[in-house]
Amino acid sequence: MPKDPGAPADKLVIRNVEFIGGMAEKHGWRPESNLPEVAFAGRSNVGKSSLLNSLVRRKSFARVSRTPGRTREINFFRVNNGFVLVDLPGYGYARVSKQQKSDWKPLMESYLRRTTQLRGIVLLLDIRREPSEDDRAMLDFLAETEVPTIVALTKTDKLSKGAARQRITELAETLRLPNEQLIPFSAHTGEGRIELLEAITDLVDAGREESA
Ligand code: GDP
Repeated sequence: MPKDPGAPADKLVIRNVEFIGGMAEKHGWRPESNLPEVAFAGRSNVGKSSLLNSLVRRKSFARVSRTPGRTREINFFRVNNGFVLVDLPGYGYARVSKQQKSDWKPLMESYLRRTTQLRGIVLLLDIRREPSEDDRAMLDFLAETEVPTIVALTKTDKLSKGAARQRITELAETLRLPNEQLIPFSAHTGEGRIELLEAITDLVDAGREESA
């Protein structure tokens, strides 16, 4: 008998990931799609590529995100033909030019305003660092657009269990978010992978119920 495709565990299995293109500038090309989208954002070096590679576990995925030029684009990946994973360009990198920095905001705004099927954003923060000005600007911007936001705290393996717990509480206070909205994650140990996949599945499903 075929397995029930709606079974909770099965939904977390990523069977298929297909790169469907990149959006390089505001008002620029983006894939036409009615599928729900979940986007990933964070400052450069926060561990976004590592997190996405750990979630998706596909060599083809890693190849695309390493392609020069793609790092400043918004890259779209169709997952299981069920939703689109959107890799937003990393922000706040000291070495990028002023021009590149000023291109980032209009690109992001254009994406966020055009994407009515956006179900949620996963914002990545390094568990050891205070949120930067750019992180806060991003959070304010997301609050304004009213897109549900999950915060993934990366590189938890760099702290002891106790120190990590303390940082989660501190960051929840700083960001004025409930502890449950912060998901500790490590690409090295795999901590948080299932929790994050569950949270993403919930975002996708919540949107589906709303539009039904
Ligand atoms: P991106 O610029 O946000 O895509 O960041 P990367 O995924 O390229 O990671 C930036 C640096 O952080 C690299 O040196 C990674 O090896 C390291 N890194 C990423 N994730 C983790 C993690 O979970 N644990 C540790 N210890 N290092 C990590």
